[in-house]
Amino acid sequence: PSRTEILLNSLADQAVEMLKTEAANRNIVITKEFDPHLPVILSDPAQLEQVFINIIDNAIDAIGRDGSLRIRTEVCEQGARIFFADSGPGMDEETLKRIFDPFFTTKKVGEGTGLGLAICFTILEKLGGRIEVQSQVGRGTTFCITLPLEPMQG
Ligand code: ADP
Ligand code: MG
Repeated sequence: PSRTEILLNSLADQAVEMLKTEAANRNIVITKEFDPHLPVILSDPAQLEQVFINIIDNAIDAIGRDGSLRIRTEVCEQGARIFFADSGPGMDEETLKRIFDPFFTTKKVGEGTGLGLAICFTILEKLGGRIEVQSQVGRGTTFCITLPLEPMQG
């Protein structure tokens, strides 16, 4: 992967920019709580933006109409962390176990490839980061991405 100095807050902003019209059309309010003291990290901006877009896209799909997506960043021991918390329907245990599997989708044929989260997982692995999820049926889903200050060597 390429290694560029990245301001995570700006990158998240760019991803939101790509999907904000879609969100607005569905009355989904996106709020940002960005930590201004995030460290600059070395990573691959194009790949990370793809990860953020996949996650926001899924959140919009899950909510459907009328809801909220809260995006928050914070400093952490490893480097930086970003949370995407949606007000969608959440997922049960059986679904949660499989969401990172390639081609796993609960969407109708033609509406989902089941590749979005598998790609996120692979990208983050390559960048030395990780992705975690918490979800409760009826309450919503939060994805958490942790990124190191710089990717592993190699
Ligand atoms: P796709 O979006 O093509 O279905 P993904 O890999 O992006 O594939 O997501 C896999 C599945 O994970 C989705 O079909 C959905 O069941 C579930 N999922 C992902 N994000 C969310 C979310 N924010 N809320 C509820 N379910 C989700
Ligand atoms: Mg998807």
